[in-house]
Amino acid sequence: MTRAPLQPSPQTGHNGGPDDPWDNRPVYAERPCPECMVLFKPRMAGTLFCCPAHRDAFANRQTVRGRVVTPFALAARITRDGTRGKPEARAAGKKAAAVMRRLYQRYRDEDRAAGRMDMAEYVEHRIKAQGEPE
Ligand SMILES: [Zn+2]
Repeated sequence: MTRAPLQPSPQTGHNGGPDDPWDNRPVYAERPCPECMVLFKPRMAGTLFCCPAHRDAFANRQTVRGRVVTPFALAARITRDGTRGKPEARAAGKKAAAVMRRLYQRYRDEDRAAGRMDMAEYVEHRIKAQGEPE
């Protein structure tokens, strides 16, 4: 009995990159990964990151940042940077706005130093690929 020769197995696994000969999904226009800025060709229209590790690193950092900054951002917004509400609320709102601006500056500086995409570009990139959030 003779067997059919074994087919070569894909080297890139289940979800191969654009060079995977076993993956016949379309390849979308080249785009930069927000985490590493490397250009890649996604297999799905809404894919933003070059790999799951970069997607997760980005999401985890944003989660941590969001937990830190959200209370200050909301207090600043609710008091219109400390110009609305009772005197105590105005004082808290002014402090919250200052903390929020300081944190935003720090996050921007960290992203620049690490060579990541800036948030304005990221938002543009994301809306283009995935549309606006509800
Ligand atoms: Zn990447």
